[in-house]
Amino acid sequence: MRQTSLYTKTRKTLPKDEVATNAKLLIKGGFVHKELAGVYSYLPLGVRVLTKIENIIREEMNRIGGQEILMSSLQDQAVWERNDRWSDKKIDIWFKDRTGKVGFAWSHEEPIMNMVRHHIGSYKDMPVYVYQFQNKFRNEPRAKSGLLRGREFIMKDLYSFNVDGEGLDKFYETMKKAYMRIFDRVGIGNITYLTFASGGLFTKFSHEFQTLSSAGEDVIYLDKKGKIAINKEVMSESVLKEIGVSKKDLVEEKAIEVGNIFKFGTKYSENMGVTFKDKSGKEHPVYVGSYGIGLGRLMATIVETLSDDSGIIWPDSVAPFQVHLIELEKGSGETLYKKLEDRGVEVLYDDRDATPGEKFKDSDLIGIPWRFVVSKKTGTKVECKRRNSGKAELLTYDKAIGKLL
Ligand code: ATP
Ligand code: MG
Repeated sequence: MRQTSLYTKTRKTLPKDEVATNAKLLIKGGFVHKELAGVYSYLPLGVRVLTKIENIIREEMNRIGGQEILMSSLQDQAVWERNDRWSDKKIDIWFKDRTGKVGFAWSHEEPIMNMVRHHIGSYKDMPVYVYQFQNKFRNEPRAKSGLLRGREFIMKDLYSFNVDGEGLDKFYETMKKAYMRIFDRVGIGNITYLTFASGGLFTKFSHEFQTLSSAGEDVIYLDKKGKIAINKEVMSESVLKEIGVSKKDLVEEKAIEVGNIFKFGTKYSENMGVTFKDKSGKEHPVYVGSYGIGLGRLMATIVETLSDDSGIIWPDSVAPFQVHLIELEKGSGETLYKKLEDRGVEVLYDDRDATPGEKFKDSDLIGIPWRFVVSKKTGTKVECKRRNSGKAELLTYDKAIGKLL
């Protein structure tokens, strides 16, 4: 794509109330637009990153048997009342329509329970693993962390339905591995830890996936060697004993919760009458689990943890483009641009009338992993450099393209 036809430009000014690094960089680079506190729209560059993150998650969910659905954002009061959560002040269905009987989704737990009732009748109908990418609306009081804490945000939420506790447990373990694969693939696997957190409904603990970052709102106690962490919220001597970690191996760290998995067990299915018949025709409540990842939060976490003073450093797997082609004289990049496009490389071609200084500055900000520079000086060759390295190599066009394929 030619940068002259890109709908956005980089920005120098920021909304006054924006304090979070992730949002500052994403707004300046032209990835998102701030609508109001905790509410962001995605621009073309942002959508490209978001789509890549979404596809990685989709692949991993499909690989473990997930089937994609798409539920509605508007939800029925009566469904929430069946689980007694419509007027739960802690949770807060904060955005009701004028009838007061329809709410905007803060979660899809109750609606999914209500929906699967129609598709699960017998033990033969399970296991069922369904997921979606869908907006959630939350009355977040601390919407100061940019895309880390949106009042509207996209979540991947998967729900598991099993006939027994063993089935649920087994899938839960499979999901832990799938989550780690996702965080590995988006480039933050080495700083993301499985973390014991408050459990709630069925088990003593739930599990979070916490990424080390000074921008994090959570505090965890990390056993780096054992690759396990405990959220401060549940930390105690008896928990340490139970998990089998020693206090001296733990360090306190700030972290971002990028994912959360937990077991409902049969609590919601009992409340809402979601049952199945076993071989002998006896009815039982279904075993349920819930597994979330916030996409905007994940994108913001990548920005928080992989940027430098000049801008973002996208990992190849989620970068908006593979290569930023920069020409220093008008037209000098045309030949290589055409070659890259023909080979199917995702390229952003800086064909603007701007100074080299402006081009390099914008390129550092946008953070595409490869930078190719063509100029009179490079002749029939191209100067190739990674965004996070100072070292440049002068290569023939074919050799340079070879680096990307
Ligand atoms: P937190 O503890 O950070 O408030 P939560 O426990 O309420 O989050 P869940 O309801 O478990 O979050 O949501 C699952 C995932 O959705 C979280 O792990 C996180 O990745 C993401 N998420 C939750 N709240 C937000 C938010 N306000 N903005 C962006 N992503 C969010
Ligand atoms: Mg949580």
